[in-house]
Amino acid sequence: MKNRTKAIHTPYGRRDAWDALQIPVYNCMAYEFDDAAYMSDVFSGRVIVPDYSRVLNPTVMHLEERVAHLTGAKEVSAFNSGMAAISAMLFSTAAAGKNIVSSRHMFGNTYLLVSRTLARFGVEPRLVDLCNIEEVEKVVDKDTCCIFLESVTNPQTEVADTRALSEIAKKWGIPLIADTTMIPFTEFDGKAIGLDFQVVSSTKYISGGATSLGGLIIDYGNFPEISERIKKEAVFNLGGYMPAQSAYMQIIGLETLDARYQRQAKTAKEIAEFLKDLPEVKEVGYTGLESHPNYHLAKELYGDTSGAMVTFDLENIDACYNFLNNLKLIHRATNLFDNRSLAIHPHSTIFGTLSDAEKEEMDVKPTTIRLSIGLEDIEDLKEDLVQALKGKEMIKDGKI
Ligand SMILES: *Cc1c(COP(=O)(O)O)cnc(C)c1O
Repeated sequence: MKNRTKAIHTPYGRRDAWDALQIPVYNCMAYEFDDAAYMSDVFSGRVIVPDYSRVLNPTVMHLEERVAHLTGAKEVSAFNSGMAAISAMLFSTAAAGKNIVSSRHMFGNTYLLVSRTLARFGVEPRLVDLCNIEEVEKVVDKDTCCIFLESVTNPQTEVADTRALSEIAKKWGIPLIADTTMIPFTEFDGKAIGLDFQVVSSTKYISGGATSLGGLIIDYGNFPEISERIKKEAVFNLGGYMPAQSAYMQIIGLETLDARYQRQAKTAKEIAEFLKDLPEVKEVGYTGLESHPNYHLAKELYGDTSGAMVTFDLENIDACYNFLNNLKLIHRATNLFDNRSLAIHPHSTIFGTLSDAEKEEMDVKPTTIRLSIGLEDIEDLKEDLVQALKGKEMIKDGKI
């Protein structure tokens, strides 16, 4: 089966009592057992069936199975947000006295998880330029527990070579972990590009248009000890398992992922090209533009599509605020890959609590706008972008 078919036709673990065509939402907390010995088998982990919905639930299990089917993963674990998946992943990998090799070009909360939260537990953050392989080689040592990167960094749109990073990780016997939220896992083969684990905020593309929070760990099974800690420690002891209702919405989201994503990525590419030619726009960040420094690498690793996030730079912060204030169709909101297009000024919002020095180190610029492209007609989006950039002037006959 091809991915588009698998997304819809992954068989259920058990036949439904009423032959429901879509998996039911098992909004129950506990499950009954016929006898005490079987109950003991289940609670002791000798038999894997649900006993309590904080740790296993049939609807969530089915989402996990579909994602495993689509990615070829050995195991998938679903959490109640992207951050819950990332923290479960890192708490299952790190320990006091160990270090995490990563970059400053990271999603704000992941950066804070690594540089503050985990650091408080004695895990040392070693944040370097992951695009500079020699620099990475210099900082990895016997106490490194993993190399962690983002496939396309948000908002810098930087792409590091996972194949080169994987060679270093293999040499030291440590996992290469990537947050691949920016390009859906259906577009590339995580295993083939050297990843041991993917973590994904399924809130974004998977949820089907911002219907629910969710996070996934996609585990290729190369580090059984870490897999065991994810399923037996993180899920049980940290308590971030996905609720059944969210899993249901994300299963439905998965079924339309390809149709939505292809449209959004196509529109995003055209918008990036369109913005590049506008005089008000100083720079466009989109790996699908040939002028992007990582254009070829991104294509080799992640395939022909480049996601639906486009960033661009204006003259100064006032121009950014004016642009946002002038928008009529595109919403001023955070989040990515909603069905509606969104715009935000990351420097003053998502990264607002960080110091200017930290933002500079992270390359979060005061002149950058981040767009998330939705499913609207591209002509309407172009018109809104132009009128917001130019103030009162409007597009006439397709011309500015
Ligand atoms: C949104 C996002 C997250 C966090 O996901 P939540 O579901 O909001 O917790 C992590 N990484 C990246 C790249 C994201 O875009």
